Amino acid sequence: MQHFITEKRSLGHALLLAMSLFFIIFSSINAQTTSDNSSAERDVINQVSLLQGLTFGDYNGSVSVAQLKELGDTGIGTFDALNGELIMLEGIVYRAAYDGTIEVVADEETIPFSNVTFFDNDENIQISGIDNVNTLKEKLNEKISQTGDNRFYMVKVEGVFNTMQVRSELPQEKPYKPLAVVLETDQTFFDYENIEGTVVGLYCPEFMNDLNAVGWHFHFISDDRQSGGHVLNLSAKDIEVSIDQSDYFAMVLPDNEMFNNFDLTIDQSEDIKKVETGEG
Ligand SMILES: [Zn+2]
Repeated sequence: MQHFITEKRSLGHALLLAMSLFFIIFSSINAQTTSDNSSAERDVINQVSLLQGLTFGDYNGSVSVAQLKELGDTGIGTFDALNGELIMLEGIVYRAAYDGTIEVVADEETIPFSNVTFFDNDENIQISGIDNVNTLKEKLNEKISQTGDNRFYMVKVEGVFNTMQVRSELPQEKPYKPLAVVLETDQTFFDYENIEGTVVGLYCPEFMNDLNAVGWHFHFISDDRQSGGHVLNLSAKDIEVSIDQSDYFAMVLPDNEMFNNFDLTIDQSEDIKKVETGEG
């Protein structure tokens, strides 16, 4: 009997303990969700489609500019039919068109590929003596190696650029050709000197190899909003870099016949290198 009571008591204790533990865990999860919700949402790198889809020639816009604005306020990408380079800054979506002009893009236009996030300035650094785009990449790599190469980063690089070489591309007609083929003939290049503006840059970690381009990808827009594009090269004496580390990643997959039938087992790394560097 005594034994029975003890057992009953300890059972009751265990139940009580379990209940309070559950309560503590539940409330801490709850508190975390409530307090982290906004920062977690802001810390997502949102990606529309795969770069590999774009290199295969899927230029069919799947997400509208209005929808993209719900996923972030800063980023890079391109438009339906490959109609120019996309730069998103402070919630405004710009097109750097093939003819070298810049325009604010209407909410109804659609996007086949993009990466955006809500930009939070986690850290600011000054960098000097940028001879070319590779120096910038090296210096940024040095910086992010302190917090981890295997994370996502969005950066804004501001300053006067001694030289800035960008490219855009002509809008395409169906049937769409692969990107590397398009860029052989339909790229346009622009060289600027002593131009003030912002480079929006995305860093993808190594494990993103099948989904995007690993490393840095930069788009530029001038402060006067007259010039911009996909950065091929640049130089600058002094620049200021704002860094946003992002620990979440989300993708929106398009739903079109072309995308649904891609054979993504085909290795496109050479094509991707070609299209990123502009060396057709
Ligand atoms: Zn680009």
